[in-house]
Amino acid sequence: MTAAALPAIPIAKPLVGDEEKRAVIEVLESGQLAQGSRTEAFESAFARYIGTKHAIAVNSGTAALIVALQAYGVGPGDEVITTPFSFIATATSIIACGAKPIFVDITADDFNLDPALVEAAITPRTKAVMPVHLYGNPARIDTLKAICDRRGLALVEDACQAHGAEHQGRRVGTFGAGCYSFYPTKNMTTGEGGIITVDDDEVARRCRIIRNHGQERRYYHEHFGLNWRMTDLSAAIGQVQLGHLETWNEARIRNAAALSERIRALEVPVTLPSCRPGDRHVFHQFTVRIANDRDGVQQRLQAAGIGTGIHYPIPIHEQPIIKEMGFGEASVPLSEQAAREVLSLPIHPSLTPADIDRIATALDAAVRG
Ligand SMILES: *Cc1c(COP(=O)(O)O)cnc(C)c1O
Repeated sequence: MTAAALPAIPIAKPLVGDEEKRAVIEVLESGQLAQGSRTEAFESAFARYIGTKHAIAVNSGTAALIVALQAYGVGPGDEVITTPFSFIATATSIIACGAKPIFVDITADDFNLDPALVEAAITPRTKAVMPVHLYGNPARIDTLKAICDRRGLALVEDACQAHGAEHQGRRVGTFGAGCYSFYPTKNMTTGEGGIITVDDDEVARRCRIIRNHGQERRYYHEHFGLNWRMTDLSAAIGQVQLGHLETWNEARIRNAAALSERIRALEVPVTLPSCRPGDRHVFHQFTVRIANDRDGVQQRLQAAGIGTGIHYPIPIHEQPIIKEMGFGEASVPLSEQAAREVLSLPIHPSLTPADIDRIATALDAAVRG
């Protein structure tokens, strides 16, 4: 069979099975569809998995970011330091709170916030720092936490791609408030959904209030909140998925090692993803750098039946709406270079050894033109 005749390998493949179906039917039959006991049980299980005292489930990763920022009191007049090399929700969640995103550059090795630049960007208006653990690779989160502690700033971790990632033996999402997404392409899903992990009792309490129309007692609204609640239908899917997460993460890590080895053996001129010693990268994405003609390589891979993704082609500060709203100013050359060079290859748990071989061989051919 020629390569062209083989079925295409998708960039992402959500795994849902009979267990999830049964769990959803059980919830449907129970009559309790909105946030209830399933959501509470899922929160406890997720908090245990991450290693925080609390977890607060919401209806998206974006909601998790907004609710966490608001729980720390981020609002109009405040600045939040973040990375422009991420999905747009990292910045729009800050803007949704009425605050200003301040974009500082990444380091070339891990695509994540450079702590030295964060420190230099702090002003009297800075209220929080929001690093992203991009692709599932931990940011230098202990250094960032030390800066935040010293300067009295909130630390909100965008861990939407990093379920189970670890920095020096400690799970991400335990350093500040961890914000996770359960969108179908993430390492685990609830359809749509998100969650905040945090140790601080008061921040957790505020998250719960903000999630539910700002009420502690029904129909008494002392705080500002909206409806960010997760449904029990989603939570039931999440409970099942969480049970598989470690198996799937291990499969991603194994696939990444195997794919790296094949690409190295073929001496393909690309820069492979790296992970600092002592850290655990959970490979939400396996992203290489291609110095020349990245878009051409992507097209040739597409023709060879290999699904790819560009995460992300335009840094956030260059997005039209961000410029239009007046947040486009940033000096971030490494982020701009990364946006030109990155290409994500399939790494999901259902890949076979033959798939991995085919991806490496097709990449080699595509890069060599
Ligand atoms: C997916 C993602 C989000 C948003 O999560 P949703 O559940 O889609 O709202 C935010 N930040 C990053 C880095 C993401 O990958």
